[in-house]
Amino acid sequence: MRALALLGLGLGCALGAQAAKIKILNIDGPGVGFNDPTPVVPVGGNDGTTLGQQRMNVYLNVAKKWSKHLPEGGPDIQIQADWPALSCTSTSATLGSAGAYSVWRDFPNAPYPTTWYSAALANTLAGADLDEGTAPEISSHFNVNLGQPGCLDGTPFYLGLDGNAPANTVNFAVVLMHEVGHGLGFQALTNGSNGARISDGTNAYPSQWERMMYDNTAGKTWFEMSALERKASAINPRNLVWTGANVSAAVPTVLNKGTPELLIKSTENPAIVGTYVVGPASFGPSLSTRVKAPVGRVIDQADGVTGLACDPLNAANAALVSGRIALVDRGTCSFTIKVKNAQDAGAVGVIVADNTAGGPPASLGGADETITIPSVRITQADGAALKAVLTGDMRTSDNVKAILHVNKDQYAGADLAGRALLYTPNPYQSGSSVSHWDTIATRNLLMEPAINSDLPVYRVTPPKDLTLPLLQDIGW
Ligand SMILES: [Zn+2]
Repeated sequence: MRALALLGLGLGCALGAQAAKIKILNIDGPGVGFNDPTPVVPVGGNDGTTLGQQRMNVYLNVAKKWSKHLPEGGPDIQIQADWPALSCTSTSATLGSAGAYSVWRDFPNAPYPTTWYSAALANTLAGADLDEGTAPEISSHFNVNLGQPGCLDGTPFYLGLDGNAPANTVNFAVVLMHEVGHGLGFQALTNGSNGARISDGTNAYPSQWERMMYDNTAGKTWFEMSALERKASAINPRNLVWTGANVSAAVPTVLNKGTPELLIKSTENPAIVGTYVVGPASFGPSLSTRVKAPVGRVIDQADGVTGLACDPLNAANAALVSGRIALVDRGTCSFTIKVKNAQDAGAVGVIVADNTAGGPPASLGGADETITIPSVRITQADGAALKAVLTGDMRTSDNVKAILHVNKDQYAGADLAGRALLYTPNPYQSGSSVSHWDTIATRNLLMEPAINSDLPVYRVTPPKDLTLPLLQDIGW
């Protein structure tokens, strides 16, 4: 059997002598992170009286919750943990990261030969600590500066254990549940940015994930692909699915039926007919109320091609969109301003064409309670295809109709066959791509790339979540 350390060896002493299978290895220096002596008031069931103690209490609590879902009697799992300064700005931050400390192959009871498994799973399958206790199984780091000036200002971690995180805080217990999920094996291991498999220095081997990563366009799994094909698959939005039996069985109980989409119909322009992937809006009505109307394209800029709709529409544009679904461009002003201007001109829906390449289209953010029409974002490429037809005298035509609706036959976060979608945005997002569920999933899932504020704490099983079924699929 072979091991390959992914990270440097840490030193420290074991804390958390409780009976839990998951133990925490604190490697912070004096006065830092878990050892921060700053006095704090107990919060939300966390009775720690120093900042460091409260941080450790959340770790111990999450370790206990996760332990309940893991097989009885397996070897202990050690999580090495510290609180360094991770990258951040005033408005964004890396909350934390975690993953396998090492990967293993060809150990006793390995389900597949010449295949990498994360350390915690490898030990559990082997029934023994493969490195004989000399190293932890999981490495984790959290951002010590979160909430301080220059690091997501004013938005610190909430260290309560009760799930009642106030606005402008990040629920640390939920983030930690997520990160430990990665450490237990919720990570592809194979590199999605170049398709490369982990090498032991001589040969590269697939991870146990690859057999269950199926690309609907290529018609094959990552295990069957070349590195170049895997690289392409990692940026094939909403086309990479997980085929494991436990996840697929759980999808109907966890995900909501109904994927928002845009249909274009036209007898005269077959090239644009079809289903378009959309990013839904966080304002206005959902697409569950179906809207069908001809498309009217706004052009209100001097270049003669761009329609920003950042100002009230002039009479000519208003005539084009009244009673129709307005096509406008992203840029310059907020989405709510564009949609409100189209609504004021009589539009019954809005399609926002992205102004940067890539996919899938992100959501339309913002809030405006006076907006009563549905709106979606489409990719720049899809927008260009529509504009190629909706040009000149044809900026609106009764022959080009749009339907904004929810496809009731498709679960939100799965393909038409009911297989959960992995996160494969284009361009590639280091640290997020491939090793998460797609953000279109509803209900929201623990293992999406960003932590949604509505997530319940400590939920990893159906019908609330798909995390544990995936871990079962890989061998837990
Ligand atoms: Zn993650």
